[in-house]
Amino acid sequence: MVEFCPKCKSMMKPSAEGKVKCRNPSCGLEKGAGPAPAVAEPRMGVTSKRREREVTVVDGVPDTLPTTRAKCSECGHETAQWWLRQMRGADEPETRFLRCMKCGKTWREYA
Ligand SMILES: [Zn+2]
Ligand SMILES: [Zn+2]
Repeated sequence: MVEFCPKCKSMMKPSAEGKVKCRNPSCGLEKGAGPAPAVAEPRMGVTSKRREREVTVVDGVPDTLPTTRAKCSECGHETAQWWLRQMRGADEPETRFLRCMKCGKTWREYA
């Protein structure tokens, strides 16, 4: 398989370590040989857009969750399931999320 340098379009030749190297000495670009590994699409959280900004992704929530007494601001129901979740990119440790047992409203509890 002949590869061409993506930088200067010269032919690439195989070099040690299973790489290919650009034949153009003034370029010398090196890259891994072979087809690029299939880029795995990061699995985005499947969630519907909600009005509340603080309500985040609710995917991966286990079916069996502990419940606690917490009043739902939506329907006033007082039992909610809860779970902890590490927020992406946030430097806070873990956030507790609550989900109303009745209407399914999910909200985040601020410590
Ligand atoms: Zn090159
Ligand atoms: Zn509710």
